[in-house]
Amino acid sequence: MAGVLIYSDKQNISLELLTAAQLLKNGTGAKINALTVNNDEQAAILSGSGADVVYKVTDADVSLADSNIIAEIVKQAAEKAEADIIFLGSNRRGKELAGRLAQKTEAGCLTDVGGLALEGGTIECTRNSLGGATVARQQITTSKKVIALSPHSFEAAGSAAAGNTLELDIMKPDITSKLVEVKNRSADAVDIQNAEVLVIVGQGVEKDDLVHASAIAKALGGEVACSKPVATDKKWFSEDFIIGLSGKQCRPQLAIILGVSGQVQFTVGIRDAHVIAAVNNDENAFIFQLADYAMVADSKDVLAGLAKALS
Ligand SMILES: Cc1cc2nc3c(=O)[nH]c(=O)nc-3n(C[C@H](O)[C@H](O)[C@H](O)COP(=O)(O)OP(=O)(O)OC[C@H]3O[C@@H](n4cnc5c(N)ncnc54)[C@H](O)[C@@H]3O)c2cc1C
Repeated sequence: MAGVLIYSDKQNISLELLTAAQLLKNGTGAKINALTVNNDEQAAILSGSGADVVYKVTDADVSLADSNIIAEIVKQAAEKAEADIIFLGSNRRGKELAGRLAQKTEAGCLTDVGGLALEGGTIECTRNSLGGATVARQQITTSKKVIALSPHSFEAAGSAAAGNTLELDIMKPDITSKLVEVKNRSADAVDIQNAEVLVIVGQGVEKDDLVHASAIAKALGGEVACSKPVATDKKWFSEDFIIGLSGKQCRPQLAIILGVSGQVQFTVGIRDAHVIAAVNNDENAFIFQLADYAMVADSKDVLAGLAKALS
């Protein structure tokens, strides 16, 4: 099998991609190549975590947010490494990059991939399908493949024997689009995918009680998140806080879910949590089918009581 190249500007995701690449290496002997852009620290870490070769691109004019130029850099690195398989992170930036890269390299492309297996030397990808109601197993049939893996689908690679690190000079292409501005994320933006504890509120929670949800999350060292309508209809949170098909897929150690009905488009984002405790005033709510602990109660009472107990 041809070599594999991994790239993500997020260090934690790139270490997860290394673990996925190790699966291919173990099964087929594929050489693992990694790419970093303007990040020497990441290059050193990847080199010491199992990458056979790390290609380092250093160019102060390149913005990591410019997926057009990053796609060109990944393409050139893959050519240099003779890698036909490219693993990216399936976060927002990674998904945009995946599409651009697939178009540039005429590769088949899958995003939101949650698992990989080798079937007779062919890579089989698992992805949620039909709005999360089922899981599909899919293969890319083109020789070149771009596969974007969902964050937290693989453990981060640990330390390993050091590989080679090579500087890579990039030929600047004629780019037909121009990055005009990069805006920092709003101050209240959090990365709910990295939280160990999530307190998740749905439409069965009142706005006045969000203060208790925040206090509980803080006391447990976690973050608050929400169902989609709480962000898109009620506008209590930005879309960064949504759990589910149109939001984020999270795997916290503990998810406390209040006033959420449990439609599949929501549950697909939280069903891999280690422990799920759900509160709903409807004993037949779908969310209870997913819960390890189910409490038929008013979210108002539970939020106030739990916040007080933890204060
Ligand atoms: C293509 C598509 C993508 C979607 N993507 C997402 C997604 O990513 N994330 C997402 O969340 N949704 C998504 N949805 C919407 C999803 O189908 C549901 O409509 C949504 O999850 C419902 O949110 P909810 O459970 O908060 O609200 P509701 O369905 O209104 O449920 C509220 C729940 O609160 C309970 N309740 C009411 N009052 C109380 C109380 N006082 N105490 C306790 N419980 C109470 C009710 O019994 C009910 O179960 C998507 C839909 C589509 C079609």
